Amino acid sequence: MSRLYLRCAICSRQQADGLISSAMWGRLELPPGVEVDHPALKGSTLRACPSCVGHQPDWQERLLVALGIEVEVDFRREAAQ
Ligand SMILES: [Zn+2]
Repeated sequence: MSRLYLRCAICSRQQADGLISSAMWGRLELPPGVEVDHPALKGSTLRACPSCVGHQPDWQERLLVALGIEVEVDFRREAAQ
């Protein structure tokens, strides 16, 4: 069985998946209807490493931008509330 890795969609850092490491990583579900092919994407879930989440308050937006997904108006509005 191959080992699972978490991969940061922002900085491409990889870390072996596990209960503790996984809990520290940010996760973001792709917006409905969005289909992209990216090595950091697992199903419809993107991950961001603790370092990126800690230093970049807008990491969710950066994840989407990193995948070439335009941030939708709804997303911005939700984030502002
Ligand atoms: Zn990162």
